[in-house]
Amino acid sequence: MSETTTAAVDAAVLDARVAATRAILADAVARHGNGHADDQASLVMASSLGAEDMVLTDLILRERLPIRIFTLDTGRLHEQTLRVLARISESYGQDVRVYFPAAGDVESLVTAQGINGFYVSVDARKACCRVRKVLPLSRALTGRQAWITGLRREQSPTRAELLAEAWDADHGIAKWSPLADWSEAEVWAYLRAHKVPYNALHDQGFLSIGCAPCTRAVQPGEDARAGRWWWEHPETKECGLHVAGAGEA
Ligand code: SF4
Repeated sequence: MSETTTAAVDAAVLDARVAATRAILADAVARHGNGHADDQASLVMASSLGAEDMVLTDLILRERLPIRIFTLDTGRLHEQTLRVLARISESYGQDVRVYFPAAGDVESLVTAQGINGFYVSVDARKACCRVRKVLPLSRALTGRQAWITGLRREQSPTRAELLAEAWDADHGIAKWSPLADWSEAEVWAYLRAHKVPYNALHDQGFLSIGCAPCTRAVQPGEDARAGRWWWEHPETKECGLHVAGAGEA
């Protein structure tokens, strides 16, 4: 645990954040929901199973909001991340939908660039992210009206302009980020207060968790994304799931 994740947060401040986030989720449901929380849902939430997404998961599943939560299993995730899926089922009695990359696409990728080709260049890394994340995400969002993410402005330079509600031009649907204003300390205060299950890697210094070969623990004072693709410049460090500023209204 970092100092930030164990920092005290004023209860009134946290309550206000939670109330604002509930209001944003209610607004998203009113405008985009179709009453379904299963695969028929018009409103979905993409979860990386990290700390922020567990705040939203708790708010959505405890109140049984008509929002389908899904995750992308890239085939390169940590075992600790996959364990979160089981803990969600146990805690809430509801499952997270899992999307996988197309087997043929993964085979072609690995044949072309090797099993760990993503370390060689930014282009090779983006090709891997495209096959394992971007294309499955497109499939998960097909036919939806809107999607919800756990992004926060504070997380990295590429997210500094993040809005709570935006137009995602890449997918042609609305994109909501109800935690845009939250601090890292507030995220952890919520998880502790509500005893929400979380990824055990967070206790080992991992802040932003992605695929195992592309994620590492960060040092005190480093930003949350410093542990992702650490061999690249900060400005290139998005996987294509969240293109900074793209189409924001
Ligand atoms: S994070 Fe790494 S392993 Fe995962 S899809 Fe992107 S390049 Fe591939």
